[in-house]
Amino acid sequence: MKYRSTRSNETVTAEEALLKGLADDGGLYVPEFLPKPFLEAEALKDMSYEELAAFVLSHFLTDIPEDTLKELTHSAYTGTFETKDIVPVKPLSQAFSMAEMFHGRTCAFKDLALSLFPYLLVYAKKQDKDGKEILILTATSGDTGKAALEGFRDVPGVHIMVFYPSHGVSPLQKDQMQKQLGDNVKVVGIEGNFDDAQGTLKQVFGSELRKESAEKGVLFSSANSINIGRLLPQVVYYVWIWLKLMENGSIGAGEKFNVVVPTGNFGNILAAWIAKQVGAPIGELICASNENKVLADFFATGTYDINRPFHMTEAPSMDILISSNFERFLYYLTGSADAVAEAMDKLKKEGKYEVSKEAFQKAGLEMMGGWASPEDMIHAMSGVYETCDYLMDPHTAVAYAVYDHLRREGKVPRHSHTVIISTAHPYKFPGVVAKALGLAEKESPYDTLREIEESTGIAIPKQLGELETRPKRFTETVDRKDMADAIRAYVDEIARR
Ligand SMILES: *Cc1c(COP(=O)(O)O)cnc(C)c1O
Repeated sequence: MKYRSTRSNETVTAEEALLKGLADDGGLYVPEFLPKPFLEAEALKDMSYEELAAFVLSHFLTDIPEDTLKELTHSAYTGTFETKDIVPVKPLSQAFSMAEMFHGRTCAFKDLALSLFPYLLVYAKKQDKDGKEILILTATSGDTGKAALEGFRDVPGVHIMVFYPSHGVSPLQKDQMQKQLGDNVKVVGIEGNFDDAQGTLKQVFGSELRKESAEKGVLFSSANSINIGRLLPQVVYYVWIWLKLMENGSIGAGEKFNVVVPTGNFGNILAAWIAKQVGAPIGELICASNENKVLADFFATGTYDINRPFHMTEAPSMDILISSNFERFLYYLTGSADAVAEAMDKLKKEGKYEVSKEAFQKAGLEMMGGWASPEDMIHAMSGVYETCDYLMDPHTAVAYAVYDHLRREGKVPRHSHTVIISTAHPYKFPGVVAKALGLAEKESPYDTLREIEESTGIAIPKQLGELETRPKRFTETVDRKDMADAIRAYVDEIARR
């Protein structure tokens, strides 16, 4: 299967799409066509996560032999997750379950894709004969950076550079990145938000610097969800969730389930949508936003408008106004690269665009939007802890709050089962968790964690606890306008090695 750009007729192989990340025209790669539904519960129900992953991916990465895919998924998911189930699905009532995506190396759902993506990339690089070094450039709102750093740490022939908003991440997230191990990694804070970081990187991808670096033997790629190597592995867990819901008896054979996704860059929910297109019986697909509710407003009005204040919230991975993957959804809604190119041009120039009436109606049939305020989020965290004895992270709590609200409004079908996508371990965000539990926040986030641990009995994950005493390695911060210079300097360092 070939991949094409959302903005022109540029078409490439899957390997090229993996290596390049972003199309030359600034668009995102999408499969040329979506495979026909191919999921049958009976055939899948006894598969392990890695077998299922190889099976699902074989329909999208048709150039990679399925046996090779099996080897890659085996390497990716062996010893990298704390739970045998990889993504445990926990029923909290007859009405809803939590799909826990935070049992990987960095305690966020990004680990699901970023445990596999490096193997896919190295495979693609081997097919590519010219043997250049790869530099992964990544913007992060907090969790992608760490998951990518862990995924690519000490992978031969690959280097990784991560930019994070220096005032926009939790203290634990910052420690995770500043204290990263590995000889091929670089972490830089920026004075700006995630949109600034992602926007500047997209410019770098289209700039002379990319050519200049290629001449020095260093190719740029991306580990953000703009790369299909991030997106496709995420489709897998929606199929997994479906199988687990049947195994748990939460749904019967042939029954649908609803999915609520706390959304930022729109990658996770897009993967759910793709899973639905290939046969996962998803009923309502709910896109949950925090106060940065560009998407919720889009689903209400048909206009995507970023002319608004940027809020820094306690669910920082959702503090995004320009959700990159929405461009892929727009491509499917309009079926036209020209329409997408025009909309993206408008977004750049005017900060907004409106879709046609048909596209808007279609969007409403595919997904439902909603948002939650900071108060709703805290209320959800403490409420679910009291009633279900279950501690949610703030992003998951946004999703739950949106679900609860839509359910009360009668917009979630009665008697249907809903899955809340639980994207991070609550202990990544000690300050707000302490607040929701009515505990005092201590000066050190690790002291706060110990206090929460004592109160809830939930053990501190080793991956987080061990950070406390590890030395900081990367404390550099640059202005967004100096990001290109920082990249050039790192490219030169790589070229000299
Ligand atoms: C990245 C992230 C999100 C947002 O996911 P997208 O795929 O960017 O929409 C939500 N919650 C957490 C904890 C995250 O790390």
